[in-house]
Amino acid sequence: MESWYTSTIDALLGELNSSAKGLSEEEARLRMQKYGANKLADKKRRSPFKILLQQFTEVMVLILIAAAVLSAFLGKTTEAIAILAIVLLFGFLGFFQEYRAENAMAALNQMVVPTVRVRRNGVVRELPANELVPGDIVEFEAGNVIPADLRLLESFNLKIQEAALTGESEPIEKITEPLTKEDLPLGDRLNMAYMGTIVTYGRGTGITVATGMATELGKIANLIGAVGTSKTPLQEKLGKLGKLLALVGIIAAAIIFAAGIMQGKAWTDMFLTAVSVAVAVIPEGLPAVVTITLAIGSQRMLKRNALIRKLPAVETLGSVTVICSDKTGTLTQNKMTVTVVDLPEHTVEFKETGPEIDNAQTASTLDFILAASVLCNDATLELDADNAGSEKILGDPTETALLVAGAQRNIYKQDLYQTFPRINEIPFDSDRKRMSTIHQATGNLPDYLRFVQNTSQVVFTKGAPDSVFSVSDSVWVNNTRVPMTEEWKERIKQANIRLAQQGIRVLGFAFRILNEDDNDADLEKELTFIGLTGMIDPPRLEVKAAVAKCKAAGIRPVMITGDHPLTAAAIAAALEFDSQPETVSGTMLQKMDENSLQSLSAKTAVYARVSPEDKLRIVDALQKTGNVVAMTGDGVNDSPALKQADIGVAMGITGTDVAKEAADMVLLDDNFSTIVAAVEEGRVIFTNLRRFIKFSLAGNIGKVFVMLLAPFFGMTIALQPLQLLWLNLLTDGLLGLGLGTEPAEEGIMQRPPRDPKKEALSKKDFLQLGTVGIIIGAIALSMAIIYYDPQNPNDLTWQTMIFATIGFAQVFQATAMRSFAHSPFSLFTNPLMTIVVASTVLLQIAVIYLPFTKSFFGLVPLPAKDLLISLAAGSIIFIIITLDRRRYRHSTQN
Ligand code: ATP
Repeated sequence: MESWYTSTIDALLGELNSSAKGLSEEEARLRMQKYGANKLADKKRRSPFKILLQQFTEVMVLILIAAAVLSAFLGKTTEAIAILAIVLLFGFLGFFQEYRAENAMAALNQMVVPTVRVRRNGVVRELPANELVPGDIVEFEAGNVIPADLRLLESFNLKIQEAALTGESEPIEKITEPLTKEDLPLGDRLNMAYMGTIVTYGRGTGITVATGMATELGKIANLIGAVGTSKTPLQEKLGKLGKLLALVGIIAAAIIFAAGIMQGKAWTDMFLTAVSVAVAVIPEGLPAVVTITLAIGSQRMLKRNALIRKLPAVETLGSVTVICSDKTGTLTQNKMTVTVVDLPEHTVEFKETGPEIDNAQTASTLDFILAASVLCNDATLELDADNAGSEKILGDPTETALLVAGAQRNIYKQDLYQTFPRINEIPFDSDRKRMSTIHQATGNLPDYLRFVQNTSQVVFTKGAPDSVFSVSDSVWVNNTRVPMTEEWKERIKQANIRLAQQGIRVLGFAFRILNEDDNDADLEKELTFIGLTGMIDPPRLEVKAAVAKCKAAGIRPVMITGDHPLTAAAIAAALEFDSQPETVSGTMLQKMDENSLQSLSAKTAVYARVSPEDKLRIVDALQKTGNVVAMTGDGVNDSPALKQADIGVAMGITGTDVAKEAADMVLLDDNFSTIVAAVEEGRVIFTNLRRFIKFSLAGNIGKVFVMLLAPFFGMTIALQPLQLLWLNLLTDGLLGLGLGTEPAEEGIMQRPPRDPKKEALSKKDFLQLGTVGIIIGAIALSMAIIYYDPQNPNDLTWQTMIFATIGFAQVFQATAMRSFAHSPFSLFTNPLMTIVVASTVLLQIAVIYLPFTKSFFGLVPLPAKDLLISLAAGSIIFIIITLDRRRYRHSTQN
């Protein structure tokens, strides 16, 4: 049936063979077989074939292929085949690494597949969204992404933003009644909710009418929230560097070719030399190793509970200068406990045994505010019938704390609902900072509610005290409504301040008995203020150390919270953000222009009572003043700020689907310390990438050096293309991989963040890697000069000596460049390094001595003495780098 929106709900349930209780598990299983999983085909992922093809269309590879073709043309078939074989090998290596990295990212993203609340057999269950089948009844609320195409059965002030489908960014109010017109455009189907659209307000239920590719979103096959495996800034730069080197290679090769021809040398020989130079310059293994280092890095971050959704984040994390964090749940434990209730004339302390009350009057007002707090509440607390005394609590910790406080006076929502059910609601949102529920008296009410007449409707409002205060005109004192005089105002404000200063989270409560002529759209007005509740939410124990670590690492922790400035400041002080954290409130922010906000943002440690829009302005101000910002967010409206931040961080446990989709990183444990851990890993990864690139480029310079200078000493071509490709494979590929996985340098979190504007490699780095490269080249060339015998040009021992010496020198170079946190010879700090070093040495020896390989690569088996000499010559580079260790260490780290 196409027109789901025109049929009645009963007809719909019949058509889909479902009921208000939902499907049975058995039926759901059958339907899953019939309709398949609720997934969209991943259009944005590259097909394996495309990844493979891309490997062979890189400029560097094209040059090699051209070289192979020309070699074949010149009758050098072995060379041609061998070059092609190595091109294929690198191509496939690159392919497997990229394919693996891409799959790993996809797998990581599977971990954030939203769960949905589904009614099956009359019980509400949480399931991964891809297990939905047509006929399933789904419940959802603000912050959820609609998981399939649904016809709405219930709508409580439901608003859905359908930009993903219609481009319309204004949220649409949803209804449940059947529509009369056929063929309505998507945007006008007010009783439907479509996959990929976002619930911005209210809550609702719907019956699934289409899943997966059968949904409207599936039809346009437009994957929302597709996670790009986009290249990191460093990868982009390396791509450019690769092209530049390829160009340098071609030019150098052309010059050598031309010079040789002019000297009257055989052009076939010169051509081969030119091809070799080009091969020597091109760092074939670089892109693949960088990709895999980043992928391994994101796995390491995952072990520390930071799930990376966008690969560039791995790199950007290393240069974060400010971490803006929510308070509740990220810096604090989100374990709320009501400790105090402040009523106009009494303050009641809550101890473990319950509230301390001294007279009956207080008891009655206390019970009234507790009733308001359990009624105006979306959490649930169920007493477990089998296991008397144990409770099952579901919902937001602020709200569950209120239910627990109510339970201490035997006030339960389910009891009150018997005669005082909820008939309407105005949901919470972090802009208004309050919510209201409307109840109707339908029978006997408890004593403390006796002033509510039967059939009367009452609105209860709870929220940030200032927000509730702003819609109240009277106060509830001794069971009567008295006008809100200046005196009362002052009394309540002072109580709020007194509690907030102790780091207590304060909520205000108010109510009003509705009149017949009350308009549904404007219920939160002329309320009567009942009192305040105060709850503590202890800071997370580990966060204090993480904050200290942050500060030592030159990163400024900043708190951005919706809570009261004093509560926020007290928590910030307890966590030692600053001895006296500079606090700015949302109201102050709104009055400020861009410039003043920018200068203010340099010193502010706490922003309180902010709205999601303020968050966006804060990120912007920080970024404009040169910061790299990590920003946490969990709510529906946080996504613009998360997208704007350099690293948008969503909460894995409490975050909404929308926030997770907008984020670059998800904290699986909602913990501030995890951000700091991820930054640390980010720094390690960046250091390792730099380490590897320096290593690899220095090696290439060494090879080119020998190639260019050998002819001056009478030697023809210093290294054959095949020998060069083999060396590059061993050094860039294997050793590079080992270097990319080295552990952290000492003190990596005791120095300032890397300036993202600074190039990955400084002039000094180039100077240093150039020097190392030239030394390697010079050592290899010396070997060649010693072993070259002009009388006997067919003895290629000199060439094998170059080959062996460069290989060994690079093993020593890699060993000397390992993390300075441990000895270069330690076997176990990075076992992968130990394995690659051992394999490189063994392979290098094997290729020289094995009958097939030695003839294939044109090598001569060296006598043991000469092999040792080449090893000893190679070790010179180790001594030089180690002697220069201090300077080297410094520049490797920065
Ligand atoms: P953070 O931004 O650090 O997570 P927060 O929870 O205080 O802190 P919001 O969720 O934006 O931030 O809430 C803003 C304010 O709204 C809170 O300080 C509180 O006063 C009030 N509030 C929070 N939850 C509720 C709720 N369920 N009902 C009514 N008011 C609430």
